[in-house]
Amino acid sequence: MTTDPRAQMVEICHLLASRTFTTATGGNVSVKMPDGTFWVTPSHLHKARVTQDDLVQMAANGTVLAGHRRPSSEMAMHLAVYAALPQAGAVLHAHPPIATGFAQAGKTIDARSSNEGLAILGPEVPLIPYARPGTDELAETVRAHLKLRNRAYLMRNHGVLTWGSDLWSAYDVLDTLELFAQSLLTATLVGGAVNLPPEECEWLETVVVPTIAY
Ligand SMILES: [Zn+2]
Repeated sequence: MTTDPRAQMVEICHLLASRTFTTATGGNVSVKMPDGTFWVTPSHLHKARVTQDDLVQMAANGTVLAGHRRPSSEMAMHLAVYAALPQAGAVLHAHPPIATGFAQAGKTIDARSSNEGLAILGPEVPLIPYARPGTDELAETVRAHLKLRNRAYLMRNHGVLTWGSDLWSAYDVLDTLELFAQSLLTATLVGGAVNLPPEECEWLETVVVPTIAY
């Protein structure tokens, strides 16, 4: 497995496309570098077609430093996450259909019916209020709802946002979010999800979660 963040970004873009975790040109990926700059995906390029040459390097103030394409229109939202959470090393935004369905319905996701869901996603995946895509208002709305315990968020009438200490951590959270949403939907169809007992949730929070390196 490569350790070059730009190569990892390309791998993840291709996974987002092949797993239908986002629409063709929708969604965006970014990573923070040790020198404080960021690499981001370009706007209006199918995620299955992204190569390293398409990526754009940016400064924390939004200035483009390298790359021949326009950076993602949602970069202000990504920079807001990095500014609010120094622990964030990578941010993903996507439109996975099951989790996004909850965002379209205006519902949060209760993750307490799965030990993995609770551990990775937290007891509840928050719902961030709607703001127009690509605006500073969206970046500010996202920033106002960020919490260290929550690495996954639903964006009302839009999609989802995840972050992690690195690209694969952020991808793990996205993968867990979409597959958990799918299993929760199945549980709802077959009679309703049954949450773990409160004492088991407490054990997971206090014993298991601190061991997860996200
Ligand atoms: Zn989007």
